[in-house]
Amino acid sequence: MIEIVAVVLAVTGITALARGRGANTVLTGVITVAGYVALEFGLNFLLPKSENRPLIAMVAAWTWIALLFILIRFAVGAGMPKPDSKWNCSKCRYLNDASSVICEACQQPWKSPDAAA
Ligand SMILES: [Zn+2]
Repeated sequence: MIEIVAVVLAVTGITALARGRGANTVLTGVITVAGYVALEFGLNFLLPKSENRPLIAMVAAWTWIALLFILIRFAVGAGMPKPDSKWNCSKCRYLNDASSVICEACQQPWKSPDAAA
């Protein structure tokens, strides 16, 4: 039960991050959950029966989530100009996280204050 809550929190965090990086949030959420379910249940089914099997499946599933998180954080939107701190959107004033390269509220890309002036 606790693990389900943790997965929901992780997926929420990953989709929020994906939105800020300009990735497709629905697709990101689906890939995250699908991979997690496939590993958690697939490995439990495929691996030879042993005491460690549920643990291995769980670790593999969480490794998948961690990898996606790292991939989205560092690979998606890497070519776009990026802020070095939290920033206010120039269009809607929404306060975005430093990891966001586009506004989480209105999708406006971040612009350097120097470039705008
Ligand atoms: Zn905005």
